[in-house]
Amino acid sequence: MTLNVGVIGVGMIGQDHIRRLTHVLSGARVAAVTDVDLDRARTVADDLPDAGLHASGAELIADPGVDAVVVTSWGPTHEEYVLAAVAADKQVFCEKPLATTEEACSRIVDAEVAAGRRLVMVGFMRRYDAQYNAVKSTIVGGGIGLPLMMHASHRNPSVPDFFTSDMIINDSTVHDIDTARWLFDDEIAAVTVLKPRVSSKARPGFNDPLLVLLEMSSGVLVDVEASVNSGFAYDIRGEIVCEDGTVELSESAGAIVKKAGHFSGRVPADWRERFSRAFDTEFQAWIGAATAGTSTGPSAWDGYAATVVCDAGLAALRSGAREPVTLRDKPDLYKSDPSRETRW
Ligand code: NAP
Repeated sequence: MTLNVGVIGVGMIGQDHIRRLTHVLSGARVAAVTDVDLDRARTVADDLPDAGLHASGAELIADPGVDAVVVTSWGPTHEEYVLAAVAADKQVFCEKPLATTEEACSRIVDAEVAAGRRLVMVGFMRRYDAQYNAVKSTIVGGGIGLPLMMHASHRNPSVPDFFTSDMIINDSTVHDIDTARWLFDDEIAAVTVLKPRVSSKARPGFNDPLLVLLEMSSGVLVDVEASVNSGFAYDIRGEIVCEDGTVELSESAGAIVKKAGHFSGRVPADWRERFSRAFDTEFQAWIGAATAGTSTGPSAWDGYAATVVCDAGLAALRSGAREPVTLRDKPDLYKSDPSRETRW
């Protein structure tokens, strides 16, 4: 059976996911597209075999030829489309964020709970990265004792002019926030944000880098160095310190060259290069689950929790103080969560 997918929002990542669904993965085809910029959507549809063009997301979701929905539009529009997909009883993959406010995320959680089954997967693709899974397998395996702390880095080479300090939390560190929750199978209890010396490459008024301290409920501490003007490459690092040893992400795939007394290797240019396989694995998992009428991976609860922690991070960025995180009670629907399964 082929899953007929409708894509809402055909910007950068929407087009990348369409390429993935059309040319890389199996079991799905793009059956329909839409975008607030209809000319852009038409251009994308024209390049696809038999893809319909819809004037709005609502129309696309209502299309009986669309089995499942991918939401890759601008963040503030996600709530409307995810709620409409849930109301139509269609599986939906929503790029992060699930929604941009705690209240909006909560409404999605309520709708899914009312539906009585999982229909929503959120695009936290690091959970499908082979290196992160190797790290998780090591700590779950227990051979190096209980985790105590994690040192992480999220370094972007550069960012567009519209990028702000808030976006370091909401768009960059959000991935580290989800990764910490998933690696330690635990919620984040508090956030502190420290502001080191500002990089001379940052625009005036822009705090870059930031040091974000996440306190897990268990007491594990996670420090995330988040910098978006590192200049050299896209560098994602993570080391977990446990009672009897440490485990860290290996360097990215690729060769290490030793020559003339030195060694060297490639650092990915951007997030697409670093996480390309993770995006493929993530989407293949979604296709498989959606075809079977179920969902998998990061849930609406995970999307909700990430947004609440980001809000605490923004508050900590402004206050300079430790900001506690308060989550609503976790509905039973999310208590046995397949996203907690280790994949490698
Ligand atoms: P983008 O290039 O700006 O694309 C968003 C597209 O959605 C644009 O074509 C935009 O049109 C369109 N759009 C805006 N409002 C819409 C609406 N109401 N209905 C339908 N389409 C609408 O942004 P992007 O970088 O692809 O990001 C899209 C989403 O993916 C964001 O939520 C982002 O956070 C997420 N993302 C996730 C990752 C990851 O690592 N998982 C990486 C990149 C992006 P206009 O340009 O005309 O506004």
